[in-house]
Amino acid sequence: MHSAITRRDFLKASAAAVATTVVSPLAAEISAAEPIQKKWYKGDLHQHSLWSDGDFFPGWIADRYKSNGYHFTCPSDHNVFQGEELRFQNGLGNPMPEVRNQEEFRRVFDGETSYWRAAVPEPKHWWEISWNRIEEYRNVYGKDSLKTLEFEGVTYVRLDTFDELAAEKNEPGRFLMIPGFEQTKLWDGRTCHVHMNFINVRETFPIILPETAGGILEENFRKGEDVYEGQDYLITANHPLWPYYDFQPSDLIRLPQYTLYELTNNFFSPSDMHRFEEAWLPEKMWDTVNAYRAVHDQPLLYGMGSDDFHTMEQWGRGWSVVRAERLEIPDILAAIRAGDFYASRGLAFDDIRFDGKTLEVKIDVQEEGEYVIDFIGTKKDYNPECRYIETDYEPGKTLQRKLECYSDEIGKVLETVEGTEGSYTLKPEDLYVRAKIYKKGAVKKDWETENAAWTQPYRS
Ligand SMILES: [Zn+2]
Ligand SMILES: [Zn+2]
Repeated sequence: MHSAITRRDFLKASAAAVATTVVSPLAAEISAAEPIQKKWYKGDLHQHSLWSDGDFFPGWIADRYKSNGYHFTCPSDHNVFQGEELRFQNGLGNPMPEVRNQEEFRRVFDGETSYWRAAVPEPKHWWEISWNRIEEYRNVYGKDSLKTLEFEGVTYVRLDTFDELAAEKNEPGRFLMIPGFEQTKLWDGRTCHVHMNFINVRETFPIILPETAGGILEENFRKGEDVYEGQDYLITANHPLWPYYDFQPSDLIRLPQYTLYELTNNFFSPSDMHRFEEAWLPEKMWDTVNAYRAVHDQPLLYGMGSDDFHTMEQWGRGWSVVRAERLEIPDILAAIRAGDFYASRGLAFDDIRFDGKTLEVKIDVQEEGEYVIDFIGTKKDYNPECRYIETDYEPGKTLQRKLECYSDEIGKVLETVEGTEGSYTLKPEDLYVRAKIYKKGAVKKDWETENAAWTQPYRS
């Protein structure tokens, strides 16, 4: 499990390999006789482009992640896979554009593929395409980088498909695009609002919407099992706090089939929403679910980091770092499924080791400062009781909710180490342990801490 090659050595080696573009880092470092060492690969599996409500062309987004040290991404647009099928207009629902002469319109686009969107002179929303944005893109990528067609005075621009971009951007051992989409009911004032990412799939299905959040999670999970039967894919429960405590710890307690959720996501904290000190936050949710699962011998829940990138403010703030033998889809998915990854909001681990009893972590110090390691867990005799805060509906502020509140015995700091290396040995009364690292003085309430990273939970 333990890699003799540190992540930093790997990054240096891969930078060198990219610079010369002759040898892949794998080939450069490992002779055929040696066993393959696992390495850390950094990725973001949740992001939106102009295919739905993102602000940027998909090629630009792939390049931005690639040129900033990410190894893998999943363009996960709302309810759409970036496929070949000919589609038009409006990013979120894909209706045909209103044109006077449909027959002529079809003739103009005959033989075309992919998704065409109308450029607007003065966009009112960030996901609308302005003529300026097209110009900017062509200035960087060349005048043939975007195909446009005119009809009835409207300029339509073609978006690159996933396969076109993957063929162009993927580089062995260096960058990998994974297909997928975000299963979404777009905001319509419903009382609950649950999103899930399907990762490594190319087919979408209409979201199933029973009345409750737990029902939405459950029914779409089950439908995914039918639609993607036999396929290697992941499903993640996204941004539980958005827009307002939309699914809660009890939902994931009831659904042990969910083993992945978003611990950090930029859409956790709408500023106009009221928060309640006593109610759960994503890190508390994590411990609440895992305390229950550990007692009931169910699979533990793993926490992911993602950007949920739509606009520049949401770029580069959350990611997952996966330990795998190769930068290939099956390896990345298998490592995530096995919990061999960590979530980050700025910091990096050099190593994470668990031998069945002791969790040992080492921070990859990328900037100067004082570091803290918290080992966090829950004891077997914890109080599992839940009490509720009932919120009333206030337009623009709160939705009606029964917010779950759990005991402070869940997710306690078991030990704190100041420094860049530390370990914790599970005691007979511990259900599990996980480590959180942060820069001294920087800690805020769980996921809000910038410059932090979280291991997954480990149990005996
Ligand atoms: Zn979402
Ligand atoms: Zn999203």
